[in-house]
Amino acid sequence: MADPVLPSSGALSPLGLDAVRLLPGFWGDRVALNREVTIDHCLEWEEREGWIGNFRGERPRRGREFSDSEIYKLLEAMAWAGHPGLPALAETVAQAQEGDGYLNTRWSGSRYTDFEWGHELYCYGHLIQAGAARLRTYGEDLLTEVAVKAADHVCRRFMDGTETCGHPVIEMALVELYRATGTGRYLEMARRLVERRGLPALADIPFGRGYYQDDVPVRQAQVFRGHVVRALYLASGVVDVAVETGDQELLKTVEAQWERTVARRTHLTGGMGSRHADESYGEDWELPPDRAYNETCGGIASIMLSHRLLLATGDVRYAELAERTMYNLLATGVALDGRSFFYVNPLHVRVPATPLDGVNHAAEGGLRSPWFDVSCCPNNIARTLASLPAYVAAGSRDGVVIHHLTPAEIRHGGLALRVETGYPWTGSVTVRVLEDGAGRIAVRVPAWAADATLARVPASAPDAPLREEPRVRPAEPGYVAADGPWRAGDELRLELPMRPRWTFPDRRIDALRGSAAVERGPLVYCAESVADEPPLGDLIAHAEPPVEHEGDGVVELEVGAALGSGANGGWPYGAPSATGGGGDVRLRLVPYHRWGNRGPATMRVWLPTSGDARA
Ligand SMILES: [Zn+2]
Repeated sequence: MADPVLPSSGALSPLGLDAVRLLPGFWGDRVALNREVTIDHCLEWEEREGWIGNFRGERPRRGREFSDSEIYKLLEAMAWAGHPGLPALAETVAQAQEGDGYLNTRWSGSRYTDFEWGHELYCYGHLIQAGAARLRTYGEDLLTEVAVKAADHVCRRFMDGTETCGHPVIEMALVELYRATGTGRYLEMARRLVERRGLPALADIPFGRGYYQDDVPVRQAQVFRGHVVRALYLASGVVDVAVETGDQELLKTVEAQWERTVARRTHLTGGMGSRHADESYGEDWELPPDRAYNETCGGIASIMLSHRLLLATGDVRYAELAERTMYNLLATGVALDGRSFFYVNPLHVRVPATPLDGVNHAAEGGLRSPWFDVSCCPNNIARTLASLPAYVAAGSRDGVVIHHLTPAEIRHGGLALRVETGYPWTGSVTVRVLEDGAGRIAVRVPAWAADATLARVPASAPDAPLREEPRVRPAEPGYVAADGPWRAGDELRLELPMRPRWTFPDRRIDALRGSAAVERGPLVYCAESVADEPPLGDLIAHAEPPVEHEGDGVVELEVGAALGSGANGGWPYGAPSATGGGGDVRLRLVPYHRWGNRGPATMRVWLPTSGDARA
């Protein structure tokens, strides 16, 4: 089955790309744009930057020490998307593989001399993920041969050692290759890599061993810490090992780490990371909006982890966080034209960025860039969008569970369904039964959707009044289900209230005290100011019901605010100062994922409000 995660057991079974087809809509459009534009964009840049030439032996070698991994992520994207350029790129990669399976364009000749920063096992991890994707979408070919040879090399070299890699990802890659091939040593290798981490297995560094999760063994850690992408890739691999070895205690450990991290170390957008120096989590409640790091890859890694926990447990909380992160981080990471990307995703930008056509040499920036020296994010977006249908729904014991409300056709067991909706702009969702069948249809009702309703409308009476019970019933947040038998044309109609709402931060998040943000449905909104729009630096927003404006299929919002006078006595502290003085303005709020598409701008998600305006 064409699926990036195929556990052999769990509360839910994944539905792959062969069972879920996205139709035009919020995600279907993005998946199509990714297939038609973004994958080729990445391919062009990797050739232009010489990262593909490295595999042909072109010298001097170009790119960072881990640039091989970007080609592998792109190969994975191409596998999911059925891109015709895959065989040629795989052939180029294969040229650089050595006889014993070793493959790395940076360290060939001085292999395994730097486990802390060398990224050799990390690069294999992405190669192996690409190989598993190819096996599941096509079957055996040169790419899968190269990936298997590399995995066998890793098992021979590392099975009995004490070493591991400074950057996790090989753990989940090996488990997936085990699932795809049935070769037990891949799972055993992954298990050993998980257990040896934190003994410790790596050298101490100025960031501390917590940076690469080598400070304590996985089983003893209470929370995700250190470099966000490393932490979440590792946790994903730990879940995979726990599921395949039946280790419930290990699974519970990751669930507890996830729970504490979500409760105390996660930004409103689902983004993670509060420190730029080491791209890491901060302490509990350290969530500054301006210094929010929220790497796009961190959001993707969080979606990968939540998806695994969701399949293992069936717990709706994991789908909730995945949705928040998909709409507010994954969708933010790529421009509306599919050709430029955010690496970091702060929640407050004070200075408009300078437009840049070429490579962004830093991760920072208030505008999306076509490419970066470290281009993990564009390739990660490409492979994630290419496999996104697999995240939308799952199989349950007796039917289908729809986690994400987006236009799609879903076929599983005795059910063939079409989901029709304008979500996230509208709250009406219709699940239409396409063929006579049986089974339970469950649909997720998001946590914010109080007063949602579900109606069951038989094909025989599409316009009959919906008054009689039990045809319309309240749909509590969680999963709402209806059982067959079904006739072709039967419908379930879910109505979600889409009122904008003010959201307030926990008082322990010092950097946000006195502020509030606006959300509508699954979308976080932000004030964005371009050109002559009101400045966002000194204002007090009125926490009143936002006004909605609909146009071009997008809902924007508007709230009132009092601007400050901008006066400053040369010292930014003193007695309480009067607010206002700069006049009243109307602030335009755009969905956070759309910000930065109108040119250089300032932006803020959290708006200072007058006092504790929880009206
Ligand atoms: Zn990245």
